[in-house]
Amino acid sequence: LVSCRGLRKSFGDREVMKSIDFDMRAGDITVIIGRSGSGKSTLLRAIAGLTDPDDGEMTFDGEVVFSEQKRTPAWKQVDSHVGMIFQSYTLWPHMDVLKNLTLAPRKRLGMSESESLERAKKALAEVGMSDHIRSKPVQLSGGERQRVAIARALMMQPKLLLCDEITSALDPPVAAEVLDVLRRLKEEEGIAVALVTHDMAFASKAADRVVFFHEGEIAVNATPDDAFNHTEDPELKKFVEAVR
Ligand code: ATP
Ligand code: MG
Repeated sequence: LVSCRGLRKSFGDREVMKSIDFDMRAGDITVIIGRSGSGKSTLLRAIAGLTDPDDGEMTFDGEVVFSEQKRTPAWKQVDSHVGMIFQSYTLWPHMDVLKNLTLAPRKRLGMSESESLERAKKALAEVGMSDHIRSKPVQLSGGERQRVAIARALMMQPKLLLCDEITSALDPPVAAEVLDVLRRLKEEEGIAVALVTHDMAFASKAADRVVFFHEGEIAVNATPDDAFNHTEDPELKKFVEAVR
């Protein structure tokens, strides 16, 4: 689904991504781990198009979308099929849940009111939030807000969801519920998920691949079993011990 070759990114004289090669298959859950500042968010932001790499090539769904330091016309595939969700709640506080979901599709895609309503109902059902269609974000718990944020991303019928520490502010049981939604979306809708998280339990249970970032490089890309139980990488061993 996604293939990155030689992605680089520097801020000033700091190289934050050093020639990253990264692939994701359709429908896979990839968990990205690594120390603070190792470049995890920078990679997700580059794939989502929130920041352009300085160099490298990216293909999405078989088409080159970034090459020779610029986006190609096929980049519109990324805009249409990739959703990103962040740690802090990004819902509009003064709008109810329905409005939060339908605003962008109606404005950006010119979707009709009835279609956006139908899609919103389906998306809320998928995250178990149908009863809250008229709630305001302030009336929801943290976990409920993140489920609405996932539903909002589903409005665009994504093939890939990029999730950057979306459960870091939640209690473990609530976080587990939100992560369970992602696992169901993979299983039932075939949506691929790339997730930055410190939740090693979820990583071992639900991930197809575990990617360990170290100082701007992908040091390990393996199955959860290999990454957590059989790795020879000294930095990953230290990291896993530190978070356990
Ligand atoms: P964390 O676990 O703390 O979220 P991370 O692995 O996601 O860390 P990144 O956010 O990718 O790390 O940042 C990698 C490095 O790039 C950091 O040193 C950060 O300060 C730097 N950086 C990121 N974005 C910018 C920016 N817009 N301008 C300058 N430096 C930046
Ligand atoms: Mg980050």
